Amino acid sequence: MDIHMTFVYEKSKELHEQACQVLAGGVSSEFRRFGYPHPLFYDHANGTKIVDVDGNEYLDFTLSQGPLILGHSHPEVLEAVTRHSATGQLYAGQHRLELELAERITRLIPCAELLRFDLTGSEADHAALRVARAVTGRPKFLRFEGHYHGWFDSVAMSISAASEEALGPREHPHIVPWSDGLPDQFADQCHVLPWNDLELAEKFVREHHEELAAIITEPVMCNNGCIPPQPGFLEGLRALCDQYGIVLIFDEVITGFRLSIGGAQEYFGVTPDLAIFGKAMANGYPISVVTGRRKFMQPIADGKVIHAGTMNSNIPGIAAATATLDVLQRENVHEHIRELGLKLMAGLREVSDKAGHPMLIQGLGPMFHAGFTSLSEVRDLRESLSYDKAKYGKFVAGMHDRGVRVIGRGLWYISAAHTAGEVDHCLAIAGDVLKTL
Ligand code: PMP
Repeated sequence: MDIHMTFVYEKSKELHEQACQVLAGGVSSEFRRFGYPHPLFYDHANGTKIVDVDGNEYLDFTLSQGPLILGHSHPEVLEAVTRHSATGQLYAGQHRLELELAERITRLIPCAELLRFDLTGSEADHAALRVARAVTGRPKFLRFEGHYHGWFDSVAMSISAASEEALGPREHPHIVPWSDGLPDQFADQCHVLPWNDLELAEKFVREHHEELAAIITEPVMCNNGCIPPQPGFLEGLRALCDQYGIVLIFDEVITGFRLSIGGAQEYFGVTPDLAIFGKAMANGYPISVVTGRRKFMQPIADGKVIHAGTMNSNIPGIAAATATLDVLQRENVHEHIRELGLKLMAGLREVSDKAGHPMLIQGLGPMFHAGFTSLSEVRDLRESLSYDKAKYGKFVAGMHDRGVRVIGRGLWYISAAHTAGEVDHCLAIAGDVLKTL
């Protein structure tokens, strides 16, 4: 690959214009609206490479926003999907593979005693919050600024902000709607606080615990930066929930099956009451899980909390998840993606320093965040507003025009398919691009 190559995107442009006539905004998810230089059309993908309709090939660090932990088109996953779905796709009933996968997940995930399968993270988040309200009989939940728990009404707020003023005072943040069309009372369902500030959370919970059903958090804040919890923060939330009978929910849609086979809860040694998994568990097939300790999932088991879905536990999704877990457990993938991620993180620090455009690189290896800020550490959404998005946009565009695809908001994902050689190649290009900024 010529690292000075400049790509053209003409066919994608034409298709995008055509798509705008029938797909709202030309895309099928809000997050795809912001493609560079416009939303692109892709043709095929294999391993770490993805190719668009103009024939441009990219080394892919987006991994489709995380799911492709084994890389694109993994043969073992494809084979399992083909084999199992050749003889049935959806039964409106149970099947053995679904039971085996459920049993396996309860062995792997510390909090998992009972579970239900869903298709998306958003749905599973929705189910967890409903369960928490039912179990506690309390109406509200506490969530954190900049965390993402799907696009449904009850959580479509305070996901991003134009400025710190828009977020309001730290102790009493405004609840910032993410969408038009939310119900009037949407803001009454929850409280919002900045993340990673245990003192603030403790004070808040002491005052409001009587109305709090749940505290929901990403165990690593991956939707604005890739921000690890401050030492003691997750443990502190656990203790607060224990003290006041509040349900602790970990949204592991990004961290699950990625940080370790047992998720962030295994990695950090803090066990929530309920947890949500999705993305990496089936290498690109639609499946998610809401799970937790038996007593918290019991209302679903008893039919008191309704959870449903025509497509739940469809054969392709279950087969893909089973095959993905087989590979993850057999091939030491977590060590590989951690080591390679740490190498890439260190390399990006080095090349950006050398180019005179130092980047703050934060994260844990399997996923991390890169950005330009004068801060030496970013701990929450407010601090993440210091990132120079326009400058990072130029970096992303430069990388893209040279065949490296990264997510515009700064998150990088590593897969089992990435190699040390590809990391070196990426670093050479990054060094080159940074010099042009
Ligand atoms: N929770 C988290 C932490 C996420 O990152 C996402 C998706 N990015 C979701 C929930 C929603 O998942 P889905 O897009 O599958 O609905």
